[in-house]
Amino acid sequence: MRPTTKAKKSDVSVIRGGRVLDVRAHRADAADILIVGDTITEIGAPGLRAPAGATTIDARGKLLHAGLVNAHTHAHGNLAKGTGDRWTLELLLTAGPWISGNRSLEDRYLSAKLGAVEMVLKGCTAAYDLPLEWPAPTPEGLDAVGRAYADVGMRAHMAPMMADRTFFEAIPGLMDVLTPGMRKDVEKLRLAPWKTTIANMRKALKSWSLDRGRVRLGLAPTIPHHCSDDFIRASVDLAKEYELGLHTHVAESKVQAIVGLKLYGKTLTAHLDDLGVLGPRFTVAHGVWLDADDMRRLGDQGASVAHNPGSNLRLGNGLADMRGMLDRHVNVGVGTDGANCSDNQNVYEAMRLASFVSKGQSPDIERWVTTEEVALAAMEGGARALGFADQIGRLAPGYKADIVFLDLGHPNWIPLNDPTNQLVHTEDGGAVAHVMIGGRMVVQDRRLTTVDVAALAREAEAARERLARLNAPGKELYERLATVVDRFCPGLAHVPYHVARYVGGA
Ligand SMILES: [Zn+2]
Repeated sequence: MRPTTKAKKSDVSVIRGGRVLDVRAHRADAADILIVGDTITEIGAPGLRAPAGATTIDARGKLLHAGLVNAHTHAHGNLAKGTGDRWTLELLLTAGPWISGNRSLEDRYLSAKLGAVEMVLKGCTAAYDLPLEWPAPTPEGLDAVGRAYADVGMRAHMAPMMADRTFFEAIPGLMDVLTPGMRKDVEKLRLAPWKTTIANMRKALKSWSLDRGRVRLGLAPTIPHHCSDDFIRASVDLAKEYELGLHTHVAESKVQAIVGLKLYGKTLTAHLDDLGVLGPRFTVAHGVWLDADDMRRLGDQGASVAHNPGSNLRLGNGLADMRGMLDRHVNVGVGTDGANCSDNQNVYEAMRLASFVSKGQSPDIERWVTTEEVALAAMEGGARALGFADQIGRLAPGYKADIVFLDLGHPNWIPLNDPTNQLVHTEDGGAVAHVMIGGRMVVQDRRLTTVDVAALAREAEAARERLARLNAPGKELYERLATVVDRFCPGLAHVPYHVARYVGGA
């Protein structure tokens, strides 16, 4: 144990000389920030009184903003960044055994660490992560991902992707159009029964050894029709028992939205509502194809949407209606999605795209989201979705000291006209000088203090090589299956959505 008096003294620090961003006011006035332990205790005019022995952190020439929150990513995606180009969501799912297969515990750790490193270097201090483990999540696999976040020093809410139907079983008619050989191969991908998955999650929750204030567990029944109703109900029950977040990809692609209508005779959101999923701890990933009633249901029940415009563009899924969500009181966070479909982990870029895709949907500026709405989504909205509301997402007394220091001498900030607009529309991560998480400098002068990035690069390269060899048959399988998926799925999506709504997707 550390001697308490000494620890207390060194636990106090004061950030002096910086300009603190007020997102709503579009201002960044000079102010000092007092931090005790991991928490901001006071923000005041320059010259703020600090206890003797407090460590002074020089923030002259820096703009200070609350750490960004990535509302949706996938740890396993980071080792696969840049692997594909012309992929729909359905092709991405088909590519799973190739790009995410044969991962060892060390690979899971490595992939998560790569993403965490990229995120913190780009001003993001917390993430909602949906890691994948086949045929079911395990306590060991989750521990490996959680340790990666803890070792980097970042916060995370980890909700493993769970399903009891493969993509091929989940899309009606798809199995029937596969050749007998393909069907045999696809049958080998079968997932664990849902009772095994729920039992594994229960074990993981019981044995979780990481600080839950930093890295916590949630549940992600990954896509509604990839999960039986019993599985979803069991997830809801477990989430209630442990007060966990629930996170599901809903109406991400048009194919999903139409399949939902076909299977349930109602939208995916209405189906989840019937199963008791909706509530303040529920997050919809994407929600590109939500209709007004879906948004109303989500808003009325205090749910969140993780808006991932980069991924939605990259996979050809369309443009989500962030204005429509905000109008119906849906809590919106901003995410990058996994690096296997976005292909970076840059929340600044995600904010910029969130603003631009809103503006790109109509010339009616009343329907456009504003830069402060986007910035608040990437800070407070994400914090709420992750279950860290009132703890992160703001620089204010009582909030955790998760602070990004942007260099005002960087071209992104010359000249400084409007800090909120520039944060969303100009900043790209290039000006990130330091990043503090929970009072600890995780990035100092653009370098990680917690991770040897050169060593990480060597390990990642070795893993890449090994996995490419092991997953060669998975790649070959993808290439065969893609020829069918690529024709069958767009065929479903060619039904006009408004027609599908009235005829049950027929
Ligand atoms: Zn996702």
